[in-house]
Amino acid sequence: MVDLGKIPYQGQSFQEVSTLIENLTKGAQKDSGKAKKAFSCKRTAFEVQNSSAKLSVSSWRFQDWDYKRRDLPTYARGLFMAKNEKDQNEISIRGYDKFFNTGEVHETEWRNIKTRTKGPYELSLKENGCIIFISGLHDGTLLVCSKHSTGPRGDEVSHAVAGERWVDRHLKSIGRTREQLAKELRVRNATAVAELCDDEFEEHILAYDTENAGLYLHGININIPEFVTYSSPQVHAFADEWGFRKTDFLVMEDINEVKNFLDGVAETGAYNGRDVEGFVVRCKARSNDSNKYTDWFFKYKFEEPYLMYRQWRECTKSLIAGKAPRFKKHQKITEEYLMYAKQMLAKNSGMAKEYQLNHGIIKLRDDFLKEKNLKGSDIIRQEYAETGGAPEDRSKNVILVPIATIGCGKTTIAIALQQLFNWGHIQNDNIQGKARPPRFTKAILDLLEEGVPVVLADRNNAAKHERKQILEDVARTHPHVRMIALNFVHTTETIGKIRRVTQDRVIARGDNHQTIQASSDQKKVLGIMEGFIQRYEPLDSDKLPDADFDAVIDLDPTKESRQNLETVVAELHNLYPKLFIEMPSAEELDDAIRFAFCDYKPDIRHNIPDRGPKNSRGNQQHTLTQNTKKKKPLEYVSVALSKKEIDAALDTAFASVSSNKAKFYRQLQQTRRIQPEFHVTLIHRASKQSHPELWAKYNDLHEQSGSAENKLGDCKVLLERVVFDDRIMAVVARLVDENWECTNKIAHVTVGTRGPEVKPKESNELLAKWLADGSGEETGISEVAIQGRTVVNGWVKGNLSR
Ligand code: GDP
Ligand code: MG
Repeated sequence: MVDLGKIPYQGQSFQEVSTLIENLTKGAQKDSGKAKKAFSCKRTAFEVQNSSAKLSVSSWRFQDWDYKRRDLPTYARGLFMAKNEKDQNEISIRGYDKFFNTGEVHETEWRNIKTRTKGPYELSLKENGCIIFISGLHDGTLLVCSKHSTGPRGDEVSHAVAGERWVDRHLKSIGRTREQLAKELRVRNATAVAELCDDEFEEHILAYDTENAGLYLHGININIPEFVTYSSPQVHAFADEWGFRKTDFLVMEDINEVKNFLDGVAETGAYNGRDVEGFVVRCKARSNDSNKYTDWFFKYKFEEPYLMYRQWRECTKSLIAGKAPRFKKHQKITEEYLMYAKQMLAKNSGMAKEYQLNHGIIKLRDDFLKEKNLKGSDIIRQEYAETGGAPEDRSKNVILVPIATIGCGKTTIAIALQQLFNWGHIQNDNIQGKARPPRFTKAILDLLEEGVPVVLADRNNAAKHERKQILEDVARTHPHVRMIALNFVHTTETIGKIRRVTQDRVIARGDNHQTIQASSDQKKVLGIMEGFIQRYEPLDSDKLPDADFDAVIDLDPTKESRQNLETVVAELHNLYPKLFIEMPSAEELDDAIRFAFCDYKPDIRHNIPDRGPKNSRGNQQHTLTQNTKKKKPLEYVSVALSKKEIDAALDTAFASVSSNKAKFYRQLQQTRRIQPEFHVTLIHRASKQSHPELWAKYNDLHEQSGSAENKLGDCKVLLERVVFDDRIMAVVARLVDENWECTNKIAHVTVGTRGPEVKPKESNELLAKWLADGSGEETGISEVAIQGRTVVNGWVKGNLSR
């Protein structure tokens, strides 16, 4: 009998499952409407094989990219539901929560892993098969699923069916039945998760011979929306009991030990003499807003020699198909491998066909390595020695190549990177005259040669021929330089929003640009922008020229540049950890973006001729405008109010209360502690980290405002009530104009403080306390209503740091 006290256990709540279904469906519906883009979750029904009650199960599947959202009702990857004996919905299969590579998302950046997680850390090899889920239905059927389906697929042996066959073999080896396993899993309310590794069925890159083939049990999850999973000893115990193969776990207590270990193995991609793809690390993590630890996974993926083997496999398939194999990396050894492969294919007539069916891939590779007396990891080490080091050692010679259209934030990010790391930035817009492409490339390479480690090639490169130009020109003379695409992804679905966002930005940018002086000629500018969008050809890493990029960093043009900057920095750090010593802090990133927004002005300005013949000589004007105007950075943004109006409202309010209640107000008046001017603070520099987008928005407005008083707009304010204790007094205010946003919990006007030791910003604490506990004797807080609907006019103002 199972002792549920000794393993994680939780029963299902019918209510919880209905809510989950409701939320999954709602998300899917919102998506189709015009409303705000929601996640989409697709439901597919399957008949359950061999079910006496003729049950069916539904698989719920999110789009892969949706897992990066923060609003999903569950993060289970692999989720199936069915009706129970009471005709209620229940979760039948619950996969792991989707987990990410180190550096792939904010949570998996090492610095966050280090602070948010706790041990024990259980490391398992990232198995290279396909995932199989097993559970028990109420009628006693054992349900076996692959990630998103179950049962046969036409005549094919589906993954699920192959998995099922293996379950039978394992059960048979210990003399147990499917029914028994189904019942056991049902009692535990759990899903068994295993990896199907069987080269006879389907060969992946890494080898599993007959002796090692089978189902490797690696986890047991509780069938509830939250992620609760067994520890590795509990998984092992279950595998032993039920005849599954076991997944090895390395257990470490300290995260630094984990990182050192992984970095060490990553040097070669081999562990215990075996080529591996990576590791999955299981631990507990707490979310930002709570101290509760929950089960959490991340992965660490190796690059080489795994990627080299994959390249060999693809090249061999091209060879068999009579196509020229195309490859960029591991040139010399790949050529040698292909020579060998060609000979072998010629010698063995049946081999090509087998290979196309994914059989014999590993053997061919191993035979080649044996003949050369080499190991994959040796090749990689050798190559690194020849080409200026492993990616993890690279500290220079990197070019960032945007693939973008106008207004995506290329220049903003370039300036921010320059500010953060002193990296180089060559703007195509600053290069004038003839033969711009080679001169552009040369300017970039010159900087690298001067020792600048990274240079951003600031040009749209929207068309493939532009990418081809820079990739080929650099490779010809500087093959050791790494080319990283900053891929501002444009898709048919997002193009409308991208147009809106970039047009708004560029129009707001006004004349502050070398070639595009938007406010002077808006129509022309929109035409030029549209031209780039029309010429935009999406990146296709499978084909040349884009296959030549060493890595691609995907960015979303509609996101704030602050966020894209962080993505670029994090991914570069992930690719080349030695490019910079330490990840910049959020504040440093903020400052760099702010610098790019506020302080930077282009040095030169040249007018492009109207769309006439391109080289209509003589008509090009070069107006060099040395920029001297530099605005001071913002300290805070406020709605400034008329002193007279506020004083009048206060006088009226206190005129009709007892003298005792008005005592503090009189005291402030008599000690000249009433503020000399009144305002509602909208945002202070101190909260730019908690509200980066709002801060950026106000900064932009500030940058664009031509007004000498730094006026950003108008805003009416409704005065509600006066709240005070014996230290400080504030008026609770409401912004009537919805265009403006305030970061304080309660928008307010500080009226005055008892003495200089009490700072005006303490109004926030007073009001928080008032909101929580109310006014009255116990709290020591008083309030006086402001009668009628008192609305005053205010003007939104940027206040500069001194
Ligand atoms: P590029 O054409 O790709 O080089 O784009 P820029 O970096 O010059 O950005 C175009 C305009 O949009 C500039 O005025 C930027 O200050 C502004 N901009 C860039 N990023 C952002 C952002 O995240 N938010 C807002 N509101 N404006 C931005
Ligand atoms: Mg630009």
